[in-house]
Amino acid sequence: MPVKDPEGKHLTVNIVWPGRSVNVRIWEAKVGKVSLFLLDTDFDDNSAEDRSITHYLYGGDHENRLKQELILGIGGIRALTAMGLKPDLYHSNEGHSAFISLERIRKLIEEYHLTFDQAIEAIRSSTLFTTHTPVPAGHDAFEEDLLRKYISHYHARLNISWDELMALGRCPGEADRKFNMSYLATHMSQELNGVSKLHGQVTQGLFNKLWPGYLKEELYIGYVTNGVHHPTWIAPEWQTIYKQLTGTVNFDQTDRSLWEKLYTLDDKTVYDIKTGLKKQLFVNIRKRLQSDMIDKHVSPRTLLNISTHLNDKALTIGFARRFATYKRASLLFRDLDRLARIVNDPDRPVQFIYAGKAHPHDGGGQDLIKRVFEISQMPQFAGKVLFLENYDIELAKQLVRGVDIWLNTPTRPLEASGTSGEKAVMNGTIHFSVLDGWWVEGYRAYAGWALPKKKSFNNQDLQDDVDAETIYNMLEYEIVPAYYSKNEVGIPVEWISLIKNTMVKIAPEFTMRRMLDDYIERYYLKLWPRNKFLTVNNFEKAKAIASWKKNMKDEWDNIEVLNYNFERPQENVYHSGHDYHAEIALDIKKIPKDNVGVEFVFTHLNKQGEYEFVDSQEFKLVSSKNGKCLYRANLIPEKAGTFFYGIRIYPRHKDLPHKQDFYLLRWID
Ligand SMILES: *Cc1c(COP(=O)(O)O)cnc(C)c1O
Repeated sequence: MPVKDPEGKHLTVNIVWPGRSVNVRIWEAKVGKVSLFLLDTDFDDNSAEDRSITHYLYGGDHENRLKQELILGIGGIRALTAMGLKPDLYHSNEGHSAFISLERIRKLIEEYHLTFDQAIEAIRSSTLFTTHTPVPAGHDAFEEDLLRKYISHYHARLNISWDELMALGRCPGEADRKFNMSYLATHMSQELNGVSKLHGQVTQGLFNKLWPGYLKEELYIGYVTNGVHHPTWIAPEWQTIYKQLTGTVNFDQTDRSLWEKLYTLDDKTVYDIKTGLKKQLFVNIRKRLQSDMIDKHVSPRTLLNISTHLNDKALTIGFARRFATYKRASLLFRDLDRLARIVNDPDRPVQFIYAGKAHPHDGGGQDLIKRVFEISQMPQFAGKVLFLENYDIELAKQLVRGVDIWLNTPTRPLEASGTSGEKAVMNGTIHFSVLDGWWVEGYRAYAGWALPKKKSFNNQDLQDDVDAETIYNMLEYEIVPAYYSKNEVGIPVEWISLIKNTMVKIAPEFTMRRMLDDYIERYYLKLWPRNKFLTVNNFEKAKAIASWKKNMKDEWDNIEVLNYNFERPQENVYHSGHDYHAEIALDIKKIPKDNVGVEFVFTHLNKQGEYEFVDSQEFKLVSSKNGKCLYRANLIPEKAGTFFYGIRIYPRHKDLPHKQDFYLLRWID
């Protein structure tokens, strides 16, 4: 729906680029109780070139991408202002929206006459940045010249120089001088998170270079694992069951005891629901195949052949998602003879259903789709390996509900979270995946299957062979027998217990409810009070922190190490329980004594030859006079071993949210 201004006209905002002004219309879509605002440029007020800016989702060229992000960020804030909305907190998903912070700073400078440094304190304390990709190439970055073309005037409105503006999107010391939107988002946000536990760690590694001297494990970067909306993704048949068990369709998803009630269902009920959903899926598949094949001019004989081989009693494994190459959709085709034996076992047949789309510019992904389609047309795989076209949310729903097993085979650690498996488990579809993304946290024995976590080969080709082999083995020796083993009245008891475990033990951890609760608890409730604290009284504390930071920066390099003493054990081999003393004397000059932290950092060398964080310990200030401070630490290792230590000083202030919020660091030893 169009958002209207008071005169009933479609509400627009505009953005000025050299030589022209681009108008942006605001639309509102209601998603449940939530308003989703959408921006578009495709209307008469704009030139033909500007009208096409919002035509593409991921398409368009690099320049168009920048225009979209300027519209989303700067235009987005203007749209909120035009609608009279004043959010307390801002949550950027990916760096795409990072320009919001620049526009917010501009407004604070204009309306409250803050300096850039004061404004940034206020902005950061109300911003969370969530990154969703585990690879550097997934983060948007633009050439400086391209930015100059559109926002050459903008730095002046922030009262900073062009180079200072550019520095916000760069990492000092990095050869790549492009303006990276994720760096901008990081510099503009107090908090930063990944979308699964493993992805949080990967993100710490990716962003570590912004804070050299800190080990990645020490960074403030956390995680909230993605979840999916239970009412949207569960089958109506399950919805009815939840209602029976809990008395309502809106049961309290945080109450694990309600989920436990699924254990009270008799096996036949679960079996009947599952087979019913599977039948529905097959009815739909036959319909879809017909129209897909007609589109592709597949002969009626082939179609008939596929259709007669389709068997809704066979163990059915689903694989549907974007065909990005890292997801390895063709992994199972490494050994076609072996696969043919598995799917064509006359007593215990297996079939695979694939669906998905590739990004239009992703040639590798397109090739994967071709490969799956080719295999599906081979006589030995007729009706055993299917590829369904036109993958969309409707088909996704049918698949996650109807198949027996949901398969995911990403190359670790490239699946930041993944969510389709989460949709499957809440429908009693058992998950089988590489231990990557959400499955690292989700996997439980007797509630699904996991490929071993350790990457054993650096050679990806070899790794693919090993992973395929592992999957064939698990299917043949474990999974297929479990599916086909039935009791005297025809119920696969073991299988049903896997389904129940899946729904009770895994599904509740990956709902949208749990995800939102995590965001609220870990981030929103941390940001909100601090932001209020910084901004009340005309930004009193934000101003204080900004000026404190400035002083610290000015004084920091004046700190002198007067003396330092640590009896390091020979060969760095520490004994447990032994008391190691350390003493250090600093002249911190004009810096207040509470504002300097001194700490020990212990690391060890891991198998990959990297220093890994073990522990850190604060030194105690034992005396101070005229800036001359004496610090002591007693170190009593709990575990013996070979460690490496370092001593570093950092700026300390009770109102900082975490150490990396103010990055000044000096290693002393
Ligand atoms: C859930 C969903 C996805 C995401 O699937 P992943 O396995 O997490 O990559 C992609 N497309 C559609 C239509 C979906 O519903």
